[in-house]
Amino acid sequence: MEIEGLKNCQLCELYKTRTHVLEGEGDPDAEIMLIAQAPGEQEDQENKMFIGPSGKILDHLLYVSDISRKEIYLTNLIKCHLPKNRRPKQREIIACSRYLEKEIQQVDPKIIVPLGYYSTKYLFAEYGLKEFTKKEYPQLIGKVYHVQNRIIFPLSHPTSLIYHEEFLPENIENYHELKKMMKKH
Ligand code: SF4
Repeated sequence: MEIEGLKNCQLCELYKTRTHVLEGEGDPDAEIMLIAQAPGEQEDQENKMFIGPSGKILDHLLYVSDISRKEIYLTNLIKCHLPKNRRPKQREIIACSRYLEKEIQQVDPKIIVPLGYYSTKYLFAEYGLKEFTKKEYPQLIGKVYHVQNRIIFPLSHPTSLIYHEEFLPENIENYHELKKMMKKH
């Protein structure tokens, strides 16, 4: 989805090392919005969401739950690649989240799925949900939070499953739950 000012954004230092600024992809009227952390190296090179190894995992999770990429909206908290996949800095999150805010306003999803710690942390702060530490974060995964007229459903970032396939079955269950929520709305 095209967002004003995003394509040539230089609001934080990440513009110096990126190849592309990644716009969100998918159905602009989707019921579900998935929010990942930031584009990976391959995504940055090819200007497409979730095409690297984590994309394969996400596609598998969607496939087994009978969810199509076309019926959801996929985006990132940070729109430019983080060099060497380092952690995002708070000032980068603050600078870039204005674009995510616009996407949430425009898509107006019923269910928001933050993938991983940083997206979850950002959304919980935005919607006035409880604060949590990195240690406490895993307890939030797969739980349902009702806020205003939306559901927040934090799930693991697919990247974290690349080296921890043992968590795949519980993640598949979470995506089945997501499918059930779609049917209810
Ligand atoms: S990460 Fe976001 S705020 Fe920083 S330059 Fe890229 S689009 Fe702009």
